Amino acid sequence: MMIIKVMTLFPEMFSGPLDDSMIQRAKEKNIIDLEYINIRDYADNKHKKVDDYPYGGGPGMVMAPQPIFDCYDQIVGTLGLKEDEKPRVIYLSPKGKIFNQGMAIELSKEKFIIMLCGHYEGVDQRVIDEIVTDEISIGDYVLTGGEIPAMVLIDSITRLLPGVLSQNQCYEDETFYSGLLEYPQYTRPVSFRGLEVPGVLISGNHKKIDEWRRKESLRLTYIRRPELLKNIKLTDEDEDFLKSIEMNSDQIKY
Ligand code: SAM
Repeated sequence: MMIIKVMTLFPEMFSGPLDDSMIQRAKEKNIIDLEYINIRDYADNKHKKVDDYPYGGGPGMVMAPQPIFDCYDQIVGTLGLKEDEKPRVIYLSPKGKIFNQGMAIELSKEKFIIMLCGHYEGVDQRVIDEIVTDEISIGDYVLTGGEIPAMVLIDSITRLLPGVLSQNQCYEDETFYSGLLEYPQYTRPVSFRGLEVPGVLISGNHKKIDEWRRKESLRLTYIRRPELLKNIKLTDEDEDFLKSIEMNSDQIKY
């Protein structure tokens, strides 16, 4: 079972998005143990204040170290870690490394993950220096808090855990798993408002279907995310196909 503990000022934000569908199934099947811990409960001052003015001046407030350190110590104390076990401690931050499927796959192999959601101008740097193992961003934009990014990570990691997706769902074909964007998908009916499903998909010829899907994946990736092609192993056939698209690039529909 993977244990995920989320340190947050707004635990109630998580109910709803993570109480349905696949995550709920993962919880019910004891594949993940998910808990949201309110950092404010650990503030050792009368008014439960968790932020303070930034040293050096400037706008906004900074999350103070004391409640976060105490919250973290309490969480670690309950994990029952063996001597060689360490939790991954992720601070969701726009300054972090941009999250991707490779990181989701890597994190899905962890047993213990602690996530820290920032607010205001972020957290005191000493928290990051002492506790955090990974600073992760979900994209080049600034959100109000780390809760939505934490949900993004939890969702993408959980669906990779064995037993979460049902047998007829498979993440290995999905966008990014192979390093390529996924090919287009179709379902019934074959003809809808005069729009037809590509014939090859109803041909029953699985070799031809696989070839078509590979080409469509390559085509989409070349058009939308060409930088991804540098990181994958291309066959001679792939290379020839990409050259043919390049030669006809004036006909590409973006
Ligand atoms: N002052 C910070 C800066 O300029 O880098 C921004 C703080 S932001 C308003 C408040 C919190 O939202 C951050 O501490 C972080 O936890 C979260 N956050 C905002 N944007 C994020 C992103 N793109 N990815 C992950 N977390 C983000």
